[in-house]
Amino acid sequence: MKQYDDCFFCGGTVDEQLLPREIRWKEALLVFEDVPMGVCTQCGEKFLRPEVAKRIDTILRSRKRPIRTLQVPVYQYQMDFA
Ligand SMILES: [Zn+2]
Repeated sequence: MKQYDDCFFCGGTVDEQLLPREIRWKEALLVFEDVPMGVCTQCGEKFLRPEVAKRIDTILRSRKRPIRTLQVPVYQYQMDFA
């Protein structure tokens, strides 16, 4: 059974890998680990299946506690640096 169509961009074969994925949810940045994603073996483009996206949404809505919290440094890009 093939889970992914050939790559939308280059026509390459898409294989499933478990990868971390950053998600923005209500102004917060979250990281999901081990998300099954299709990765193009040619160009590296990533694809998320609709049922996986839905599952992530369900987990977020259930307000499940995260396994751990990361502190993310934020920088502001400044146009002029004197
Ligand atoms: Zn591709």
